[in-house]
Amino acid sequence: MGEPKTTKCLVVGAGPVGALAALYAARRGWDVEIYELRGDLRDASTTPLNFTKSINLALAERGVNAMRHSGSSDLLDRVVSESIPMYGRMIHGADSSGALTEESQQYDVHGRFNRAVDRANLNKLMLDKVDLLPNVKLHFNHKLVGADLRKRKAWFERKASPPQTADGAQAHQDQTDERSQEVEVDFDLMLGCDGAHSNVRYHLMKFVRMNYEQTYIDTLWCEFTIPPGSSASSKTPTAKDGFATSADHLHIWPADDGMFIAIPSVDKSFTCTLFAPSAIFATLEQDPAAVTDFFRTNFPGAADLIGHAELREQFEQNPHLPLISIKCSPHHYGSSGVILGDAAHAMVPFYGQGMNAGLEDVRVLFQHLDAHPATPAGRTAALDSYSTERVPDAHTINDLALANYWEMHSGVRSPLTLIRKRVEEFLNDKLPSTGFATQYARVSFSNQRYSEVVETVAKQGRILLGGLIGTVVLPLDAAILVLSGNGARQLDGATCAWFTPGDEVNGYYAALVVKDGSKDEAKVRYPLVTKTTCPSARLAFVQLQVEMERSLVRLLRGEACPEGAAEVIEHAGQWVKPPPYAVEK
Ligand SMILES: Cc1cc2nc3c(=O)[nH]c(=O)nc-3n(C[C@H](O)[C@H](O)[C@H](O)COP(=O)(O)OP(=O)(O)OC[C@H]3O[C@@H](n4cnc5c(N)ncnc54)[C@H](O)[C@@H]3O)c2cc1C
Repeated sequence: MGEPKTTKCLVVGAGPVGALAALYAARRGWDVEIYELRGDLRDASTTPLNFTKSINLALAERGVNAMRHSGSSDLLDRVVSESIPMYGRMIHGADSSGALTEESQQYDVHGRFNRAVDRANLNKLMLDKVDLLPNVKLHFNHKLVGADLRKRKAWFERKASPPQTADGAQAHQDQTDERSQEVEVDFDLMLGCDGAHSNVRYHLMKFVRMNYEQTYIDTLWCEFTIPPGSSASSKTPTAKDGFATSADHLHIWPADDGMFIAIPSVDKSFTCTLFAPSAIFATLEQDPAAVTDFFRTNFPGAADLIGHAELREQFEQNPHLPLISIKCSPHHYGSSGVILGDAAHAMVPFYGQGMNAGLEDVRVLFQHLDAHPATPAGRTAALDSYSTERVPDAHTINDLALANYWEMHSGVRSPLTLIRKRVEEFLNDKLPSTGFATQYARVSFSNQRYSEVVETVAKQGRILLGGLIGTVVLPLDAAILVLSGNGARQLDGATCAWFTPGDEVNGYYAALVVKDGSKDEAKVRYPLVTKTTCPSARLAFVQLQVEMERSLVRLLRGEACPEGAAEVIEHAGQWVKPPPYAVEK
């Protein structure tokens, strides 16, 4: 079968990724049809995604860069003009006297920032751009129900409720039948941008041997709103420009079992999210009157910013939603189908990269398509090379997003994590030729491949450990020790060791052992063994790393060993293979 003159491209899903993908495809002169399950987002009666009012997102360089290459320069200008720069995190807490504290942590030594954007608004701006193009047809209220990737045919169920299609002929047909109708559509290339519960992915799986892994983490989220400063019952000392607290930051209230975050909105309110284990949600759902106390204990000052009555009302009215993490491979089939965005790699939101990664998918995909002829064979090669490049990057950012949960609710309070950040920033600022940059800066402010970011950061860790600053003060040395991987290292006349062997079934273990190296009979000064069972080795590693950091901080403060810890360490060898720990003498 010969290739038609113009490529017919079906985009399934008109979320941010689908809308941008349609823009890229249309700019190449293709015939583009977008099919979206819901009504037109720009219609006020349309129920938003997840049934929440809106989600405020952190738009980072990758998302910006993808829009930059969309061929619609004014799209980016509009998005930027309706966004708020966030230069860092504001960490909220209380000191030992109970007084509220705010601590600003800049994201970047060079002053680079993320932008707070309203997802629905961003999506609307993109749809407006797409709507202007003559070679794009938008079909709302159309749900993908079937796809044959070999025959290149797809089937959509068209909802009977008032159709909002841009295609007048089809709208007319709808009026003749009150029930849902099935529509058959041919295509050359289908772009599956239909989100975490993707139907395109489901149908793709029938044609390709796709490996698939899905994890629900034991954390739910619920949205809250801090009203503008003019109507808020409380303000913090950094409040300005009509906001109840600083508009220049992403605000975090870290807690041991969760966190509360707030992102500024252009209407001077903050969209906030509570992340907490499902058990905590269950307890509060049983007794919503306890929500204020829960906030008072865990997130000092936050309840006052929202208002106590509003806090409870919002907890009861807003949905309590799960967080899913999805990895799959490959992302495509032959020349005819590829999944992008959440459909390919839904991730937990803790790195603020879900949408950014999805928009980057679009840029990278079209780079590959542009590099090959517009024929079925050329497209097969392009999708193949795209999947080969993108799968490891998607898996990496998925893992980093999970790991960042610990960073956000523990790392932001860990002196050791902050020390490493400062060292890397110092080198980046004062000795740029060393190429040092924090992982956060590489992920959020660059377009370096995610997989390369992790490799580069690991290399930096090894260099730091290897002696560049290995002889400076004890805490710094200790920080580097803990952050740099398995091993053992001399620590101020004592020896410290830690390890992370294990497997997914038996769990991963780590021990921190500090011995007085000058005596034959080494005395265990601070033993700690911890175990975690995690879906991935990388995540286990990060969890253990955080545990180790906490232990080391306790050690440096001269705090006592936990009761029974010495006994535990004695038996560590029974659990851990190969040998429990290696201690340098
Ligand atoms: C609490 C929270 C905070 C977040 N914060 C950030 C952040 O700060 N930064 C960031 O980059 N990301 C963030 N994200 C992630 C971000 O929201 C998603 O990654 C992004 O929305 C994915 O875009 P998408 O277009 O791939 O999918 P979606 O936005 O899910 O869009 C998919 C579209 O497909 C449609 N659809 C579904 N099924 C069908 C079907 N069968 N037929 C036709 N259409 C269909 C849906 O109606 C929808 O419109 C956050 C997510 C959450 C939950």
